[in-house]
Amino acid sequence: MPYAVQAVFVDMDGTLLDSEKVWDVSLAELAAWLGGELSAAARRRMIGSSLARSVAILHSDLDVIADPESSAAYLTERTAELYRTELVWKPGAYDLLVGLRGVGIPTALVTSTRRYLTEIALDTLGREFFAATVCGDEVRRPKPHPDPYLRAAQLVDVDPARCVAIEDSPLGIASAEAAGCAVLAVPSEVAIEPSANRTVRPTLAGLSVAELADLVPR
Ligand SMILES: [Mg+2]
Repeated sequence: MPYAVQAVFVDMDGTLLDSEKVWDVSLAELAAWLGGELSAAARRRMIGSSLARSVAILHSDLDVIADPESSAAYLTERTAELYRTELVWKPGAYDLLVGLRGVGIPTALVTSTRRYLTEIALDTLGREFFAATVCGDEVRRPKPHPDPYLRAAQLVDVDPARCVAIEDSPLGIASAEAAGCAVLAVPSEVAIEPSANRTVRPTLAGLSVAELADLVPR
């Protein structure tokens, strides 16, 4: 096998797609509907988190008692509308998926977003790029737990220690590192520091498959 890497796992929101901007819109609308305004600090804590956790942070930040299921449903439906029309690729993300497919390195999508919204996003992303997709509602424990990445490794039948995960958020990075993956961080909303098994890059633009594959030691 020409590459040391067995598979590449890639986060969706904020990594492949500039979708955190879409969530900004639906979260601000939900906050307004609940009679408040979401603080920037609370919004940052939601980056990379599950829907349930985001709703809990929002209710707490607004200091409101509201039905979590209703808020989750509002967010899901509004975000779905925006996912259909407003999704934009992050720089270099599409070219990277094309490159990985070209050399036959299996790629899996590992997202905290639920399957319903992910399927809408996959209309933009292209299902053909992914050997597997793992969504937030398909694992027992969401990111930052290792479960999503371990599930992806199981589905693609690879050793997570021989895989690279591409992530934009501290929660996602914690998940990938807990699963034993090498990490390429492309910070979007929150600054990320490099470490022993973690490389930081400003964007995916210009990233070669060889450079990515070499993040796993031979
Ligand atoms: Mg993300």
